[in-house]
Amino acid sequence: MSRTGADSPPDDLENDVEETRNSVYWHDTEPVEVGEPLDGDASCDICIVGAGYTGLWAAHFLAEAEPAADIKVLEAETVGSGASSANGGFVGLTAGKVLRRLLWYYGREKAAGVYRSGARSIIDIGRFCRQYGIDADFAMNGVLQVVTDRKQLARLELQVKRSERTGLRGSFKLLDRDEAQQRIGSPQVLGALRTTGALVNPHRLVQGLARVVREQSVDIHERTPVTEVRKVGGRYRVTTPTGTVTANEVVLATNAWQHSFAQTHTKVMPVWNYLMVTEPLTDAQLSRVAWPGREGVSNSLSFAHAARLTADNRVVWSGGRWYYYDQRDTDRSHLRNDAAHAELRESFARFFPAWRDVRFSHAFGGPIGWSRTFIPQFGRTDDGLVYGHGYTGNGIAPSHTGGKILRDLVLRRDTEYTDLAYVTVNQPKFAKGAMGDKGAHLFIWRQETGDRLPLLLPHPAALAPRSFFAGRAARRAAGANR
Ligand SMILES: Cc1cc2nc3c(=O)[nH]c(=O)nc-3n(C[C@H](O)[C@H](O)[C@H](O)COP(=O)(O)OP(=O)(O)OC[C@H]3O[C@@H](n4cnc5c(N)ncnc54)[C@H](O)[C@@H]3O)c2cc1C
Repeated sequence: MSRTGADSPPDDLENDVEETRNSVYWHDTEPVEVGEPLDGDASCDICIVGAGYTGLWAAHFLAEAEPAADIKVLEAETVGSGASSANGGFVGLTAGKVLRRLLWYYGREKAAGVYRSGARSIIDIGRFCRQYGIDADFAMNGVLQVVTDRKQLARLELQVKRSERTGLRGSFKLLDRDEAQQRIGSPQVLGALRTTGALVNPHRLVQGLARVVREQSVDIHERTPVTEVRKVGGRYRVTTPTGTVTANEVVLATNAWQHSFAQTHTKVMPVWNYLMVTEPLTDAQLSRVAWPGREGVSNSLSFAHAARLTADNRVVWSGGRWYYYDQRDTDRSHLRNDAAHAELRESFARFFPAWRDVRFSHAFGGPIGWSRTFIPQFGRTDDGLVYGHGYTGNGIAPSHTGGKILRDLVLRRDTEYTDLAYVTVNQPKFAKGAMGDKGAHLFIWRQETGDRLPLLLPHPAALAPRSFFAGRAARRAAGANR
């Protein structure tokens, strides 16, 4: 691959996209050995399908609670080969649409419960990495939710109100334009909300988690796609091309692939989102853009863009519109999407004009499991399979909480985790077949249009951003002095 010097601008941005490698950057940060597939017929107490965060946290917490239980994890490809090693690595609080809908459907107390569990999971993931020596670059840098147009100010205002309704007043701070631009040197930034949150290397996290789970004597069979799960007598028969597993309990943890099982076909839709990663920035390049706290940064659009630095000073630029491929297609060839990557390249250049010349080395994507309420869902199917899925793009912290929910569902315990609003019944489902396809496209069009036409959502904050930030700062100060 030919490269020009780091400081000479590319001829045009699109060529730069074509030159990038279509592979998941994070995989380069730690090589992995692929485990053995299932070989023949076996029996166990608990069989977990899917070795991403959801399946592995469930295995970890189950093995902790029941050390004598025989647990097997079956993974179609390799550990973390779904979204768990292909994501942005933001370990963030419940926010945006999820918080709005939690408040709307379940009320303040239940929403606060979810908010608190997420905050606890952020801390606990860091603790887990330290306890088990997982070098996943976990850093509590915080998250800056920035606004780049006036409609987003309205969203930020609502976000603040909702966070206050959940009772966590102290976990965020509003920054006006000047303050925000000192934290993230983009001329597009009009203001920001700084919240609790961490950044992690997602691939090393899922690999470390798999290592711990194996040390707990859980068998993980890779390259073992499950083709069917059926109740036979009082147990379940899990079928794969290389053997069967008969188990007392089965957990479906395949997230964006849950539609491939009859029992969960309409519960989750697979939509794709994309990322690009730059080459490591030189000190000279780094010094062009203020980013002293190295926070995760995201704007406040429905289809938000997000930026973060890696340990070796690359920028990960992700997000933008979702893509849905008809018939719930999750073929791994969608890892490449030229239109999505070209849009990412252009939006990066607008957000960071000082880095227009920076070269991208990797372009990739992954499938998001979208639940119709946007709220993760956990429960049992009619035939008793346990499931957990539907993080809608924010799954690192919730899947950790989810592992505890799955543990308690499998062990049939009523706990604070099974009492969370994530554990629900009768959630709205997606249509099957062509109607489902149409619905997904319509939703994406609606969100995109809303993001493009800011004046469709008028709000006082959008008309007077300066007084919005000044007013809030004054109210906060008055509250603090009371
Ligand atoms: C581009 C992108 C960026 C994201 N950024 C962030 C972020 O910054 N922060 C955040 O919190 N979240 C983010 N997410 C979401 C987050 O990655 C997911 O919510 C999380 O990884 C879900 O974990 P999971 O274990 O449920 O699913 P997955 O990691 O997808 O795991 C499911 C596993 O099931 C396996 N499987 C599928 N079918 C079968 C079968 N039939 N038999 C056996 N195994 C099967 C798959 O191979 C896969 O390994 C992002 C997602 C994407 C796609």
